[in-house]
Amino acid sequence: MMRLPPFTYLAPRGVEEAVGQLGDHGREAMAVAGGTDLYPNMKRLQMAPRVLVGLRGIRELGEIRGSARDGLIVGAGATLTRVAEHPEIARAYPALARAAGVVSTPQLRNMGTLGGNVCVDTRCNYYNQSYEWRRAIGFCMKKDGDICLVAPGSPRCWAVSSSDTAPVLWALGAEATLVGRAGERRIPVSRLFQDDGIEYLAKAPDEILTALALPPVDGWRATYWKLRRRGAFDFPVLGVAVAARIEGGVCREARIVLGAVASTPREAPDAARALVGQRLDAEVIGRAAEAAARPAKPLDNTDLVYHYRKRMTRVYVERALRELAGLPVDGLWPSGMSGRAIDDIRTPHPE
Ligand SMILES: Cc1cc2nc3c(=O)[nH]c(=O)nc-3n(C[C@H](O)[C@H](O)[C@H](O)COP(=O)(O)OP(=O)(O)OC[C@H]3O[C@@H](n4cnc5c(N)ncnc54)[C@H](O)[C@@H]3O)c2cc1C
Ligand code: SF4
Repeated sequence: MMRLPPFTYLAPRGVEEAVGQLGDHGREAMAVAGGTDLYPNMKRLQMAPRVLVGLRGIRELGEIRGSARDGLIVGAGATLTRVAEHPEIARAYPALARAAGVVSTPQLRNMGTLGGNVCVDTRCNYYNQSYEWRRAIGFCMKKDGDICLVAPGSPRCWAVSSSDTAPVLWALGAEATLVGRAGERRIPVSRLFQDDGIEYLAKAPDEILTALALPPVDGWRATYWKLRRRGAFDFPVLGVAVAARIEGGVCREARIVLGAVASTPREAPDAARALVGQRLDAEVIGRAAEAAARPAKPLDNTDLVYHYRKRMTRVYVERALRELAGLPVDGLWPSGMSGRAIDDIRTPHPE
């Protein structure tokens, strides 16, 4: 049985106190919210903070306030269950409710938070393993080693961004509020991430994500499609978030953001541009889906073979766009895998 290594748990009552504690302990400390990602990682010694700064006692982090008309502020400490079931989110930002509602299992959604989901560690088959397993293969540069086992000549880590909600927040144009010793700043969610499997968040170690601000709905519609092996629960091996402002049947603006195809959620701007000024019919959607698959460059380091995941990018973007356009959608939601799909995986597909 894997056990947690020893650590000191601090329970601040306010954001300022938490930031101070993170600053005081420097690299030895980490924030913990629901602990559904961090504690399993600590058991596998993927990370070994000596001090944990618990955010659960900070009441303001759990607040959800505002409206679809003026914009909604969702506290980073709101649980995923609450986000999935919140009436205003479910009505006006259903893509976010859907993404939060397909994270993991009900138990983990009751503990796991939106902030923790946005900050969730990147994943890789060579890293999400026990200490003994990793030691047996000589470790890798994300923890304890110095090379990448997926791409041995590479100077960087390619672990995969595996958050369900991050691509949706990005596609919605949400902003993240960060509070650290240097003060408070609000940045687009798109700027919170960087394409590096180790340093995947562009935030200082003493900064806490306090809230996610959703812009007014203002005619935007969005959806989220998730590919995973088990329909009951699993990390995404592909996430597709699509948002569009459609007026009189014509698409005025669009954003397409892919999850689990790189170390950061990855936007597909060419595909989004192909939608603007167009009626979303099958042909326009097909062209955009083709363009969206181009920036998806999955590697052989998560579940399911990478060329299948790349092919499914086109399929899932097409399904998501058809759903937004009100066209009939072929396929399962929420993305349990049909027998056909499993057959596809077993058949080798040259790139
Ligand atoms: C079996 C299993 C299945 C899972 N399936 C999925 C899945 O399908 N999709 C998915 O997206 N995730 C999945 N997860 C991962 C995890 O449960 C979720 O991502 C969850 O939302 C994490 O939230 P948390 O509050 O528990 O984060 P924690 O574990 O508390 O923290 C995660 C990381 O975020 C940091 N952090 C947390 N809150 C803040 C904050 N406010 N400010 C700054 N840093 C912060 C922590 O320091 C840590 O690095 C799964 C986990 C398990 C164990
Ligand atoms: S991508 Fe490479 S360095 Fe990163 S976790 Fe995987 S094997 Fe390790």
